[in-house]
Amino acid sequence: MAVVPPPPSPAKTPHDIPAGLIVEFQGWVFTFGYGLACIVDASRMGLSNWTFRLISHPHAPLRQSSQVAAALLPIVRRNYLPSLFVNFAASVAVALLAFSSGVTWVWWWLGAVTLVSVVRFVIHDAMGRTPLPAGDPALAEAEAARQIRIAGQGMLVGGACWCVLAWILLADADPLLRYSTSIILAGMAAGATGVLAPFPRVGPFYIALVMVPGAIRLLFLPNAEPVIGVLALIFAGVMMVGHRANRILLIQSVELGQRNGELMAEVLDANQTLENKVRERTETLEHQATHDLLTGLLNRRGLTDRFVQGAAGSLHGLVYFLDLNRFKRINDTLGHEAGDYVLREVARRLLAALDNEAMIARWGGDELVVVVPVAGPVCPVARELETLFDAPFLFYGQTLDISASIGVARCPEDGPGLDELIWAADLAANEAKRRQSGAPCLYDPSLAAALQRREQIADDIVAGVEQEQFWLAFQPIVNAASGDLTAFEALLRWDHPTLGVLAPDEFIAIAEESNHIAVLGAWVLDRACRAAANWHKSGLRAAVAVNCSVRQLAQPDAVGIVRAALERHGLAAKWLHIEVTESVFLPASDAQMLQVLRQLDGFGIRLAVDDFGTGYSSLARLRDFPMRQIKIDKSFIADIDGKSRSVIEGAALIARRFDLEIVAEGVETLEQATALLSLGIDCFQGFLVGRPVATPQTAVSCPWLGPAKAAV
Ligand code: C2E
Ligand code: CA
Ligand code: CA
Repeated sequence: MAVVPPPPSPAKTPHDIPAGLIVEFQGWVFTFGYGLACIVDASRMGLSNWTFRLISHPHAPLRQSSQVAAALLPIVRRNYLPSLFVNFAASVAVALLAFSSGVTWVWWWLGAVTLVSVVRFVIHDAMGRTPLPAGDPALAEAEAARQIRIAGQGMLVGGACWCVLAWILLADADPLLRYSTSIILAGMAAGATGVLAPFPRVGPFYIALVMVPGAIRLLFLPNAEPVIGVLALIFAGVMMVGHRANRILLIQSVELGQRNGELMAEVLDANQTLENKVRERTETLEHQATHDLLTGLLNRRGLTDRFVQGAAGSLHGLVYFLDLNRFKRINDTLGHEAGDYVLREVARRLLAALDNEAMIARWGGDELVVVVPVAGPVCPVARELETLFDAPFLFYGQTLDISASIGVARCPEDGPGLDELIWAADLAANEAKRRQSGAPCLYDPSLAAALQRREQIADDIVAGVEQEQFWLAFQPIVNAASGDLTAFEALLRWDHPTLGVLAPDEFIAIAEESNHIAVLGAWVLDRACRAAANWHKSGLRAAVAVNCSVRQLAQPDAVGIVRAALERHGLAAKWLHIEVTESVFLPASDAQMLQVLRQLDGFGIRLAVDDFGTGYSSLARLRDFPMRQIKIDKSFIADIDGKSRSVIEGAALIARRFDLEIVAEGVETLEQATALLSLGIDCFQGFLVGRPVATPQTAVSCPWLGPAKAAV
């Protein structure tokens, strides 16, 4: 029998590599490669973090602001469930691997992990329903820290489960199971570097739990794997560094976010402040644009705006126009401070007296407008306005004489809009001023006609002079004691083509207001001088007395005009008398006026104070001014039997003391003449002596001198 050689052994060729060794090798390579990648990644993060610290955070990069926990909590919550899920999935995978290698107790472990996972899930869910306390940042921060701490404790329990598994499973001799478990553990540790970044202590502790016990096991088991064990320890260390780097980055980004938020808040705050300032400034500008700075009352624009807003065409009420009397004189004599005080005080009284419905405005310098809406029947004057000036106006202890001319217009009867109503009230105030009764004047359409008449007179003066519509009437003035004719007063008359003969009382004031007085005054001077020169040629030796208004004498070439008139007609200056009213003594008529009067006096012209006793005279002024004569106003003569007698006596006394001639005007009766004579009055003028006429009469009557002189 032939011997059959045994079949060649299937194993043990020099090229044969045991299957276990291949698996072991793959495990090595895989674990080593994965570990190396993690080391590189972690060191890169650590390096970049250090660089970051060098550049931007030289000190205490882990300085945590007071709100860090509250900011970290959402990140923890977001990461918690996915990490729980990954943790559980990895547990199931390891359990399956272990079971396939014949490890049966692993199901108990998986059961424990499942239980832990369920408990963690329930706790996480409960915490998710617990909101942070609103309103108190410190309480919110404490609650956030507590929830993070509980989440960290859950992580650590999970880590402990892995620690138990690693301790037992890595002791197993099956290399495949050993390596795959190592890989999963390494993966869990690597994942913890990011997921556990919010936890400063739990993170490293978790990594240590997962990696270190297993590594020790690998180092010291009977079938030890020292290389993998050492590698695992290094890997754990690097993971911890990586965790720290991630944590620093996370905290810094949180702090940056918070700083960003603070900056945004600051920017918003600054923006709000700016908006407030702009609004305040706009309101201030708006107030300034609609209010008077001195009194705080509305100005023209403010009143117009309020009237339009409030009334909208349906207002029923009264419009008052208050024109302060003698305000200019207060300004001129006591200064602008006094004027300002008066305006402020009047404004204060108006505001106090009238309710909020009333619109009170400063319309012009010393003009105020008050619009009072009235619900019921319209009463012509608000009682509050009547008593407005009752209390004294005290300026540094001095009582100022303040009153107002008040005009009233009714809305809507007297005009459709504010402008028309104010125009009407202004007109009424002008009338009140002219009447000088102190009572308010209610607007009446006839006032408009009067205004129109005044405007027409003003317009026609110059043409009237050119067309010789004016003429002079002459009224004799006689010596009271002898009855001799001393002078004729030239009194202006105007034959107006459409308005008829006009008296000077009507048109002189208008000529003064419209500045035509210079033209008119120059004409009067010329004609008066011409008339006097003619009288002299015909043998009548009488002077001519010409009325000059203060405004006329304030014209730049007033003296030149007077002189030219005298020279033109060859009249000696002593035959010209110039009568000026007491307003010439007002302090407002400054030193220049005194100069003018002195020049006229220097020529030899006789200066007289007209209407003496009705205006402003002071003894000091009478002494300083070069006056030669005073003419007592006819109102005192008419009342000579009453209180005026003492005024006339006083005037006569002053005249004697200052060596002035004294003339009585408006002497109408014999009784008056006799009484005046006994008082020592020098000259008489009046209807008793002779009326003003175009052609002067040399025959004058002086009945107080006896029958012979009664009618000459
Ligand atoms: P006046 O200077 O006081 O003139 C006297 C006024 O009294 C005159 O009124 C005269 O007609 C009036 N009169 C004279 N005697 C009597 C009398 O016995 N009884 C009464 N009741 N009245 C008498 P007239 O002419 O209407 O002048 C009024 C005022 O007009 C004058 O008052 C004077 O201030 C002013 N005036 C007249 N002519 C001129 C002028 O040429 N220039 C200026 N600036 N003013 C003038
Ligand atoms: Ca006169
Ligand atoms: Ca007079």
